[in-house]
Amino acid sequence: MINSLFVNAAILTTFLYLSSQLFKNTIVNIKSAIKIKILIGFIFGICGCVLMFNGINLVDNMIMDFRLIALIISAIFCGPISTFMTALCIISFRIGYFGISNASLIASANLIILSCIFSFVSISKYDYKTQYIYMCIANALSSVFWNFVFVKDANWIFKILSNYILSTIIVSFIIYFVLAYSFKTAELYLKLKQEASKDYLTGLNNVREFDFLLNQSISNTLENNKNLSMIMLDLDNFKKVNDTYGHTSGDLILKQFSDILSSSCRSFDIISRKGGEEFSVIMLDCNYVQAIDIAERIRMNVQEYHFTTDKSEKIKITVSIGVSSFPSKTDNINNLLQDADKALYIAKQNGRNQIQ
Ligand code: GH3
Ligand code: MG
Ligand code: MG
Repeated sequence: MINSLFVNAAILTTFLYLSSQLFKNTIVNIKSAIKIKILIGFIFGICGCVLMFNGINLVDNMIMDFRLIALIISAIFCGPISTFMTALCIISFRIGYFGISNASLIASANLIILSCIFSFVSISKYDYKTQYIYMCIANALSSVFWNFVFVKDANWIFKILSNYILSTIIVSFIIYFVLAYSFKTAELYLKLKQEASKDYLTGLNNVREFDFLLNQSISNTLENNKNLSMIMLDLDNFKKVNDTYGHTSGDLILKQFSDILSSSCRSFDIISRKGGEEFSVIMLDCNYVQAIDIAERIRMNVQEYHFTTDKSEKIKITVSIGVSSFPSKTDNINNLLQDADKALYIAKQNGRNQIQ
């Protein structure tokens, strides 16, 4: 029996590890998209079935295993939708595979009752550690209850309960630490990934991400025979802004500028901060005329905006923009960046606050 229980613990840990790997690029929690919740529910539903398959047949077709910990994990990860999805998978398998019996109907009823309790706990304001403890207590109480109802032999009850409860406590602890570790790792991974690709001040793509996305955009454009345009932007006389209003105001203005840039572009344009007060936009499937339109919209929006300094003073700023476009203006797509840079240089030479 102890061996079977440890097999179950190993299955749970494996599913936990696999799901954390599968969703390592996504934040999995109660706010996740419905399809993620359903998928998590399904994965731990399968986990519950595998656990049941490796369960210990006690008496009268009664199976003892850790499937309820799979239900707890599902509830902790994603809340009610996943919990009920997991319960549905387990119940279907329990009845489909082992057949309808008193034991399977009672096990299903128990699963539904516990799903309601776990769902309720999962949407409570408690942190996941407290939620986990409450769910484990509910789980232990339900097994004690059903064992008393089902197993009439007092020696059996003592033997089963002492082994099962002890193993449940050990396994719950192990799973708790694996769960805590997987939450922490997922959070750190996403944070590091974010920091490696985003500019710390504006939240736009940084230079490394820009290079990666530019190469990707060039390949996509060539493969699909599309247009690709790019604009380079540089704030005019920004050094003077820093000298007059201070570096902190300069930073605030860079943030405000990045907001204007984001709201002036299309949702799928790739906006990056190239460093300092220089920015770029890669415009997928965008021809020269459309690129000029967007560039003009940005220039006007910046010109009309009242930027705010750290002392709440309102100031005006302008931006110079260089545009390049493949294939109408640049026949070598690899020169797109260089040509937009050259155009920006000309815009500066010709007096700033303009598009070239
Ligand atoms: P131009 O119109 O020719 O572009 O003039 P400019 O003064 O904008 O150009 P220049 O390249 O000489 O100066 C850019 C200034 O941008 C220098 C630096 O003080 C400022 N700068 C660069 N990065 C940051 C930053 O992260 N925060 C702040 N506040 N200022 C920055
Ligand atoms: Mg500059
Ligand atoms: Mg400048």
